[in-house]
Amino acid sequence: MSDSTDKFPQPLGGNDMPRFAGPGTMMRLPAVETAEGMDVVFIGIPLDVGTSNRPGTRFGPKQIRAESVMLRPYNMWTRAAPFDSLRVGDLGDVPINTFDLKDAVARITDFYAKVLEHDVIPLTLGGDHTLSLPVLRAIASKHGPVGLIHIDAHADINEHMFGESIAHGTPFRRAVEEGLIDPHRTWQIGLRGTGYTAEDFDWSRDQGFTVVQAEELWHQSAAPLIERTRAAMGDGPVYLTFDIDSLDPGFAPGTGTPEIGGLTPIQAIEIIRGCRGLNIVGADLVEVSPPYDPQGNTALLAANLIYEMLCVLPGVAYRDGAGS
Ligand code: MN
Ligand code: MN
Repeated sequence: MSDSTDKFPQPLGGNDMPRFAGPGTMMRLPAVETAEGMDVVFIGIPLDVGTSNRPGTRFGPKQIRAESVMLRPYNMWTRAAPFDSLRVGDLGDVPINTFDLKDAVARITDFYAKVLEHDVIPLTLGGDHTLSLPVLRAIASKHGPVGLIHIDAHADINEHMFGESIAHGTPFRRAVEEGLIDPHRTWQIGLRGTGYTAEDFDWSRDQGFTVVQAEELWHQSAAPLIERTRAAMGDGPVYLTFDIDSLDPGFAPGTGTPEIGGLTPIQAIEIIRGCRGLNIVGADLVEVSPPYDPQGNTALLAANLIYEMLCVLPGVAYRDGAGS
């Protein structure tokens, strides 16, 4: 191996080992035991006990990794070359307690607090959306309240679900109450469908969130929108949370709470690429449910969107591409 590949771990190439073989890590990167010395780590959270309807996101991390085998190192449009300048590895999965959601949540925060003892950006493979709350608890205790870019069909701001304060429909109400996110730098994009009341999304607006319902993006590019988002985020720390049900179920059927009339994969890519230049301190992609994903398209989309997230992190090298 050359010096550069010693310094920067590389995905195992498809001409060195067939893509249907080799390690089961994200992009067939090296598995790492610790975040020490890494710039970015992928972490799986195999959680679905916070789900309210169709389950199965416990299988999300493994299936996203399985569908990541086709990802090659270089982004052919933006010319991002993340493995030229960042040390990236796969830290494996958080050993959640699948019988006890509250204990699982505590374990997730503890895990991320240890990871964040190092100067590293965690990219999380979910798992149901409950997980963003314990991850944000660890993120905010390091970085302070963060700006939030939340792509989702749902606002996830319920007060309670079946009397429980922690579930996959409540994380961003708790995050406001706990001061983990800056409500005036929180954007929710892709919300749609039916509500318990006609005012459901107004709680977000009342906090100071910017709410962009899916209809505002129908039949058009999402690039102008995300430019406004990027300007609103400024230089402060930003967390990106991407619920795969933001996409239309025609593209991403493998999820627990599908809503029609959603984003296209192209709009999703535009949104993530538009985050380039932000001070992103962490990101997650949640709600992939492989049992409802018979063709694997949902997990394939998820793997690609996480790769696109990697390509816009601070410190990524670019090779003067069309998108730069
Ligand atoms: Mn969600
Ligand atoms: Mn959702």
